[in-house]
Amino acid sequence: MNKEQDFAKNLIDFIDESPSSFHATKNVEDILIKKGFKKLNLQDRWDLEKEGKYYTIKNNSAIVGFEIGKGEIEKDGFNLIGAHTDSPGFKIKPNPEMVVENKYLKLNTEVYGGPILNTWFDRPLSIAGRVSLKTDNPLEPKELLVDIEDPITTIPNLAIHMNRKVNEGIKINPQSDTLPLVSNINGNFEKNNFLINLIAEKLDIKIDDILDFELFLYGTEKGSLIGLNKEFISIGKLDNLAMIHAGLYGLVDGKVGMATNVLVCFDNEEVGSRTKQGAASPMLRTVLERISLAMDKDKEDYYRALSNSFMISADQAHALHPNNTEKYDPTNKPIMNEGPTIKLAANQAYTTDNFSSAVYEGICKSIDVPVQKFVNRSDAQGGSTIGPISSSQLDIVSIDIGNPILAMHSIRELGGVLDHYNIYKSFKEFYEI
Ligand SMILES: [Zn+2]
Repeated sequence: MNKEQDFAKNLIDFIDESPSSFHATKNVEDILIKKGFKKLNLQDRWDLEKEGKYYTIKNNSAIVGFEIGKGEIEKDGFNLIGAHTDSPGFKIKPNPEMVVENKYLKLNTEVYGGPILNTWFDRPLSIAGRVSLKTDNPLEPKELLVDIEDPITTIPNLAIHMNRKVNEGIKINPQSDTLPLVSNINGNFEKNNFLINLIAEKLDIKIDDILDFELFLYGTEKGSLIGLNKEFISIGKLDNLAMIHAGLYGLVDGKVGMATNVLVCFDNEEVGSRTKQGAASPMLRTVLERISLAMDKDKEDYYRALSNSFMISADQAHALHPNNTEKYDPTNKPIMNEGPTIKLAANQAYTTDNFSSAVYEGICKSIDVPVQKFVNRSDAQGGSTIGPISSSQLDIVSIDIGNPILAMHSIRELGGVLDHYNIYKSFKEFYEI
């Protein structure tokens, strides 16, 4: 296995161990701790020093890691990479147990973000997220991560014999068609509070201590390298855990230069970012201002720092699909494994402009990493990402980039082994400026 495949394998393990945004955050934290980063609580006064490595966590689903540069923040600014911890899928509703004809137990769910619904059928699925437990202080419940691990559920397709038009495209109703089957009901099967019981058993805690939960379905099939030369990565959540992974290793492997390096992993991008831990919140600008204040800088210094900063908004891009080439812009069709992709849109759904594009291309050129460009067809509307949303909160020059992938928002996406390594190299180089 070459070093690119090794790094892709490392990504696969990272994603397999991150079945929810809470788990992803914990895994980022664990790697930061291993690399000598110290935790800062948002509630405490921060005391920072040059070349110090720190991180802070919000809502247990967003994390900001940073390393203070050798220079002065007002002159050398922040070098930022932003990505998101969440992925589209299904969230379990409260009181989820539903009994069918007294024979089956299924769970009530709602859709989180924009998954390709039909990719979730007929897969072994499990449940992961967080639970809150009672403590002596009602304002501070204790939080635990939970991952059931076993594939305890699945969303079965309706047979083609009862669904004759299924291959012509069928509307999927998210309230009636996608509820996952969990079990037969027979004998003294405990169908009431089934889920709470399951969590209590898994975590070895008392049912009465559980106050609430926030749980998601996830596919239990492990990721793999595929393709004739094992050049592709097949796994869910490449959007956007692959960017978190590349940014994280860029941060911990890069030697800090004059600028202060920051990796921000927001949550809730897939549902519009308008949460306290999302890109539309003051979270990042508050953290940056607190870094400045803790380095004994004043407000003027902080604003100068922002003007001397650069942000890479890292989220995946679309690769040319071999079966649907007509869906793409006629002259800009990113290919998997041919390089990180700069995303552009005249309507500024991406933050990229001539200046920021030139900066990133310059970085890639200096280390022989090829760069591609993505633009939507002029008659099609594309997606957006955290870049423009952050820009509405923070006065920082920004670019939107990502790697070209296929099957974005499927339960299993497809990306390039070489691209993942190359984008990591570009992030590391960016952090070393
Ligand atoms: Zn994304």
